[in-house]
Amino acid sequence: MDSIDNYRDKAIKLDSKDVLKEFSKEFFSSEEEMIYLDGNSLGKMPLRAKASVERVMSEEWGSALIRGWNSSWWEMPERAAEKVSRIIGAKPYEVIISDSTSVNLYKLISAALKINGGRHKIVCEELSFPTDLYIIQGIIKEINPGLELQLAKSSDGLSVDFDELERLVDTDTALVVLSLVSYRSASMYNMKKVNDLVHSRGALILWDLSHATGAVPVDLDNTKADMAVGCTYKYLNCGPGSPAFLFVNEDLIDKTGSPIWGWFGEQNPFDFSKEFRPSKSIRKFMTGTSGILSMCTIEPSLDIILEAGMENIREKNILLTSFFIEMYKKFLAPEGFVLGSPADNEERGSHVSVKHPEAYRISKALLDPDCGKYIVIPDFRPPDNLRLGFSALYNSFEEVYNTTLELLSIMQHRSYFDYSAEKEDVT
Ligand SMILES: *Cc1c(COP(=O)(O)O)cnc(C)c1O
Repeated sequence: MDSIDNYRDKAIKLDSKDVLKEFSKEFFSSEEEMIYLDGNSLGKMPLRAKASVERVMSEEWGSALIRGWNSSWWEMPERAAEKVSRIIGAKPYEVIISDSTSVNLYKLISAALKINGGRHKIVCEELSFPTDLYIIQGIIKEINPGLELQLAKSSDGLSVDFDELERLVDTDTALVVLSLVSYRSASMYNMKKVNDLVHSRGALILWDLSHATGAVPVDLDNTKADMAVGCTYKYLNCGPGSPAFLFVNEDLIDKTGSPIWGWFGEQNPFDFSKEFRPSKSIRKFMTGTSGILSMCTIEPSLDIILEAGMENIREKNILLTSFFIEMYKKFLAPEGFVLGSPADNEERGSHVSVKHPEAYRISKALLDPDCGKYIVIPDFRPPDNLRLGFSALYNSFEEVYNTTLELLSIMQHRSYFDYSAEKEDVT
């Protein structure tokens, strides 16, 4: 049998060929022997983001005070959006930074329903991130009771078959809302194929890109996507709760508007007009005053991704995840783990889920500094997923090797029996 030591040599070889190796120095690192595999939930802190907050605190908020709006803050949502647009294949004027992903979902779902008002169905998926479903349920209950939500089913619990979408999306469908990369399994849709199907039935498509942006290539314009939303705090590394982005195809911007008429969406908020006159640009989807302290991390953090290049990032995260899956097959499957992500590289984002009935307690053992050599930070998603997020910007192949080694040791010693199955507030 293949010894696990051989994989250490392989990891070192892969690290030596890694063109993105130097980028890990862009990120803050603590003293601990820590392997961070949760960049799909909250990216590590870029040193440039830290410097930006410090500069804004002292020079801008501290010294410039209200003058900061004219010197820099007013244009910040557009400047940051321009950088996002390059990562998601959009035009700069189709993207804006504002609010959270949840609020942006609310705004764009409402906007899409207005365009397709005569239709009665909205199609989502049972694998959807809960906030997407909640927002739709709320819109139906509170505003649009004539609408029916239909959920595309998954036959394997990992992904939705294209056939299922073909069956559900019809000429009464107003809107389809899907996650490009699924939060639990990392399974990924073929965006162009889905867009073509949805358009052939006269419906609109809204993509949630939260687990995709910064991890996989996204080409909204060339695949003719209608709308999209996404987080900036996952693979984009912009900080906890940093504001989200939204995208509306240029052909649709004039045709619709935001259901929340806040003064930042007004043509000229500083006219203090009594009547709302929506901005003609994508700014019409803004609401109120931007959170500058959490938005000022976006530009410097995205610069790192633009410098690294999405092609390099994708190439490396395929190597990282497939290296882990290769080791999983040899060493972890025999310990009772089952792969909870697609095995095919083309169908998988940048995290890998492995399923085990004791996944929660195993995640506690990985996190415990007194168990094993490293603190490994994964996360747990019910019912039984141990989720490992691999970031091409700061994870190494040796870390993948060491994580597998720790997991193997936890399983062989049954170390997870030492931990309570009681869940914490945030898993
Ligand atoms: C993380 C995530 C969100 C988070 O939404 P917030 O409003 O930022 O809390 C939404 N959708 C998906 C698919 C996600 O993965």
